[in-house]
Amino acid sequence: MKRCEWCNLSEEDKKYLLSDTKYWTVYLADEQDYIGRCIIVLKRHCGSLPELKDDEWMELFLLIKKYEKCIKTVFNAEHCNWSCLMNSFYKSPEPCPHIHIHARPRYKNPVVINGNTYLDNNFGHHYSSGRTEQMCSKEDIQTIYGLLKKWLNS
Ligand SMILES: [Zn+2]
Repeated sequence: MKRCEWCNLSEEDKKYLLSDTKYWTVYLADEQDYIGRCIIVLKRHCGSLPELKDDEWMELFLLIKKYEKCIKTVFNAEHCNWSCLMNSFYKSPEPCPHIHIHARPRYKNPVVINGNTYLDNNFGHHYSSGRTEQMCSKEDIQTIYGLLKKWLNS
């Protein structure tokens, strides 16, 4: 769809591509306020979960299983917050929603990347959006990306 940003991602938007399956693509989020935070995007323009096809649901289920196993193995995450909010699309008078699912790993224990320690200070509570107290350096994001990509594609 022409006016949908998710149907028209730039090469820059795709720089953190982690996994590309038949129906979905998985990107590491630019903001690593929760270490390993990802976005799973449906490859066709479709605006709501009830409109997903059986094969798409099944592949999403397999991706969720794989991603959770990955994040627990690589970074010792405790569990994962999954959300499909779609709110921002509805700020527009003509909403053009495109299904994408946010995955925010949650951590009971600190995560150390390149010697930097990251804490999930509100573990056990709702994730906070726009959390800025611990932004990752570009170098740490590259490290996170490399580790997850290697695990997911091996
Ligand atoms: Zn779209």
